[in-house]
Formats: sequence, C-alpha cells, structure tokens
Amino acid sequence: MFDLTSKIALVTGGNGGIGLGMARGLGQSGATVLIVGRNAEKSASALRELQSVGVRAESLACDVTDEAAVQALFAQVRNRHGRLDILVNNAGSTVRKPPQDFTLAEWNQVMDVNLTSAFLCARAAHPLMVQAGAGKIINIGSIMSIFGAPYAPAYCASKGAMVQFTKSLATAWAKDNIQVNTVLPGWIDTELTQGARAQVPGLNERVLARTPAARWGVPEDLAGVAVFLASKASDFVTGTAIPVDGGYASA
Ligand code: NDP
Repeated sequence: MFDLTSKIALVTGGNGGIGLGMARGLGQSGATVLIVGRNAEKSASALRELQSVGVRAESLACDVTDEAAVQALFAQVRNRHGRLDILVNNAGSTVRKPPQDFTLAEWNQVMDVNLTSAFLCARAAHPLMVQAGAGKIINIGSIMSIFGAPYAPAYCASKGAMVQFTKSLATAWAKDNIQVNTVLPGWIDTELTQGARAQVPGLNERVLARTPAARWGVPEDLAGVAVFLASKASDFVTGTAIPVDGGYASA
C-alpha cells in the first residue's frame, strides 16, 4: 500500500531540512527522488546523504520563483524520466519583522517563494500527471496556516493561502486522479527555525512549553506523512490539511 517503487518524486527545497526528511522517506519507500534547490553545495551534500542510505536520487538546480526556470526544470524531468508521479512543494522562507516594517519587496519575496512557486510547479506538473493517469501533490503549509505570529505577516498569509490553493487544485484535478493535500508542520528543528530561535527571544522555551509532545520536531517526523500522501494509501484523501506538530494545533 505504501510502496513507491518506479515512482518519480520531485521535492522543492529537498536539499535540506524538512524537504530532505521527506525526500529520504519517499526514497526509502522506493521512489526515485529529484531534489531541487539553489545552493549547489547543500544539494551535493544532500545527494550524498540520500545515496548513502540507498535512495536513488538526483539533484536539480532551480529558483522556483522564476517562471522560466520552473518550466525548464519540468522539461528536464520530462526528458530524463518521461514522467512525474509525486510533487512536494516544500521550498519556503521568511522575513522576520512586524507588518509595519515590511517593504513591498520583502512581502513579494516571501509570497513568491512560499506560494507562487507552488502554483508554478503544480501547473508545470499537471500535464505530466495527466499523462501518467495519476498524481500526488503535497503542499507544505505550517501551523501558521492556522495561527498568527506578530513577526510573520507575509509568512502567515502565504501559508494560509496554501491551504485554500490546495483545495482549489484538489477540486479542479480530482477528475485527473490527482490528489492534492497540505501538510502543516509544527515547530521543526531546521536552518529556518535555527534563525528564528536566534532572532526571537524566548522562542525555544515557548515552543517546548506549548507543544504537548514537549519537544521540537525533526525533519524525519515528516517522512511518514509524505509517504502516506504520495502512496495508494491516500487515493481517497484530497483537499485536506494534516498537522504534524506534536499536538500543537490541538492544545
Ligand atoms: P530550510 O530553510 O531548512 O529549507 C528550505 C529549503 O527551501 C532549502 O532547502 C532551500 O534550498 C529551498 N529554497 C528556498 N528558496 C528557494 C527558491 N527560491 N528556489 C528553490 N529552492 C528554494 O527550511 P525548512 O526545512 O524548515 O522548511 C521547509 C518548508 O517547511 C518551508 O515551506 C517552511 O515554511 C515549512 N515549515 C517549516 C517549519 C519549521 O518549523 N521548520 C514549520 C512549518 C512549516 P536552497 O537554499 O538551496 O535554495
């Protein structure tokens, strides 16, 4: 039910953090994993890590906010593999400051990386999935798809919008046998949140006190949900948002 043998999976931001955790899970379930990022050194190290645990993986360089680059990326996938079964829209970033201090450029940058990239990649993946007769799209939201944060107006807006974008794709593409869901990670220990811990005083203690599981998540905590949403096990699951947060959203 969870076997992904012969599937091709593309993970944006798969060269680090949560993306790499999901890429490892998908790969260990049998998929060939294409990890996408901009930083060549990070991508090379992630590739070595995946290959060292027996995962078939390739790295592809792309800025997923660039429309032409995304089109070229998916053309490359078509040429090399002839198919795409699983797309994980995981690339993300943030600018930490209160709303009144945001510039338009900062706002647009966060929206482009977190939201518009998912539109560009999903649109480019659609014909490949139609051709395959099936597809799985996993969008990465956040607990900030649900909750607000004073230092993250664009991040919260983009992640809230991701949930609605997912529902729209799910309803549009159900007829193509493409299931689209969002994962809402809680506080996960990655480069992104190491930055937050450094910039936001008391964050570490607040996360530990507020999370029922009483720990930060690790990227591997996202592997299981990725495999579920990429596999036959979730063929009747679409348009939903699944928290993976140690109970944070329920507390
Ligand atoms: P990281 O900063 O560790 O990873 C983000 C990844 O996105 C990097 O691998 C980066 O690769 C890639 N990326 C960023 N911008 C671009 C771009 N323009 N084009 C291509 N790739 C890009 O963060 P996380 O692993 O923590 O975050 C992954 C996702 O999970 C994000 O969407 C984030 O919002 C979400 N999330 C994270 C949470 C957490 O607690 N960590 C909680 C909830 C959600 P490169 O540097 O090579 O460009």
